[in-house]
Amino acid sequence: MKISTHSNSNFIKKIIEKDLKDKKYLSLQTRFPPEPNGYLHIGHAKSICLNFGLAQYYKGKCNLRFDDTNPIKENIEYIHAIKKDIKWLGFKWNGEILYSSKYFNILNKYAIELINKGLAYVDKLNKEEIRKYRGTLKTPGINSPYRNQSIAENILLFKKMKNGHFPTGSVCLRAKINMNSPFMIMRDPVLYRIIFSKHHQTQDKWCIYPTYDFSHCISDALEGITHSICTLEFQDNRRLYDWILNHITIQHHPNQYEYSRLNLEYTILSKRKLNILVTNKIVNGWDDPRMPTLSGLRRRGYTPSSIRKFCDNIGITKQDNLIETSSLESCIRDELNKTAPRNMAVLNPIKILLCNLPENYQEIFMVPNHPANNRMGFRPLLFTNELYIDYFDFYEVDNNKNYGLILGKEIRLRYGYIIKAIEVKKDNNNNIVQIICTCDKNTLGKNPKNRQVKGVIHWLSTKNTLPAFFHLYEKLFTIKNPEKEKDFLNYVNPKSFLIKKGFVELNIKKINNIFQFEREGYFCIDKNDKNTDLIFNKIINLSNTNKKIDKK
Ligand code: ATP
Ligand code: MG
Repeated sequence: MKISTHSNSNFIKKIIEKDLKDKKYLSLQTRFPPEPNGYLHIGHAKSICLNFGLAQYYKGKCNLRFDDTNPIKENIEYIHAIKKDIKWLGFKWNGEILYSSKYFNILNKYAIELINKGLAYVDKLNKEEIRKYRGTLKTPGINSPYRNQSIAENILLFKKMKNGHFPTGSVCLRAKINMNSPFMIMRDPVLYRIIFSKHHQTQDKWCIYPTYDFSHCISDALEGITHSICTLEFQDNRRLYDWILNHITIQHHPNQYEYSRLNLEYTILSKRKLNILVTNKIVNGWDDPRMPTLSGLRRRGYTPSSIRKFCDNIGITKQDNLIETSSLESCIRDELNKTAPRNMAVLNPIKILLCNLPENYQEIFMVPNHPANNRMGFRPLLFTNELYIDYFDFYEVDNNKNYGLILGKEIRLRYGYIIKAIEVKKDNNNNIVQIICTCDKNTLGKNPKNRQVKGVIHWLSTKNTLPAFFHLYEKLFTIKNPEKEKDFLNYVNPKSFLIKKGFVELNIKKINNIFQFEREGYFCIDKNDKNTDLIFNKIINLSNTNKKIDKK
């Protein structure tokens, strides 16, 4: 599939264009390197659209490489989910799927090369001591007492590390760079640590694992990556990236470029924190439709094209910013406004009896599936003397601001007649159970003169209904930037999920999966295998400010 990305220029494209023009590289090779420690989110979509999109645009290639250097946090479920999400977004990786773990042998050899050059040592300080010795931005670091061990000693200790002689966390391999560097990352960073844990790819083969910084640059170089693109928080790591590649025997040296990560209002974009929402059951799994994960957005009804459009719109810069939720929402709304068939659903049903029609009255209206696109066809809509309308569209008292069916006043039924509410039937608890109306049969498709009919409401014949649940969602957080809060769980919106039980048109499932329910918004059929009920997830309101005024 040819998909359109990168309608705008950006600083990375300019660099690539110059490199290709100068023949620095014959073709572009990028990579997307997720760590399989969670599901992908909309922030990753930005990176995917960038890396895969650039490769597509410049007729290059983009690798999918799992950055799997921490077996404690990773698992195979995440690998499957990540593959599925990338494909769903519409991208295809170059050749086989790659894993950093496939390079563990080579990485180990490069570690030995650094030790042999006197550029790495095995440190017996523990994690806490290493942290203390590292100093701060204001104070220089202190050399570890093990820093000047002989090369032979380091070789021996590293071998012992590899062979499982030391317990987890007791020793590590560090680069010997500069404990006084103004860049903390250069103060003898850890290259290898001991982790006794089964790895999803290499099983029990290793008990030492390279750090991200050590494996990433070498993996990039081995794969012939031309432009290694990552987010700004890795800016300082670039020094280490270059230092490692400059001090080992390797042919290729990719350049790293950084751009600002996506931050989205009212949203958390960190796999670690999203995992907390899942494990604490604050949401119903990674694909909960309130989640900013790609699987959550998919289940919510977002389309791949709407997400690609969003990523294209926000662009690539080095400025840190918080993107408004409306920028994402307008992408799906604009698309669905064109593509979603219209249909009727009543979310809060209340019965109407049209008392001047005979009991078994039936009529069929042929109504368009899209008011502006006849090619989307027409469908029969059954009209009878008993209907459902939405309870919140009815008012017993007129306060001049109400929009809907007001007792004593007229309103038009969508695609149908003008009706007038004349009486309300209530039960013993004063709850409305039925509204009695009259129907003016002389008003189909025409507006009688001198009659001011305020508005149109949606409806369903009680004989044309399929029961359905409607899952309505609000923002998951109550504050704009929950990512900044230490206790982000304090800001979870307790009203982010509401279930309604109502009706849709009987034959709805034959038409599509995504609909605009007239006056209600865009909805999609929930695709959870566990469902036996018909459930519609609300994707988005009809407009940025929901026009339907609720008296809830
Ligand atoms: P998280 O904090 O969610 O775990 P990460 O950066 O640790 O994010 P990785 O799996 O390592 O996640 O990310 C794979 C790629 O996606 C990296 O190149 C990373 O820079 C990029 N990425 C992650 N989050 C964002 C974001 N919010 N915006 C843009 N790119 C992102
Ligand atoms: Mg990470």
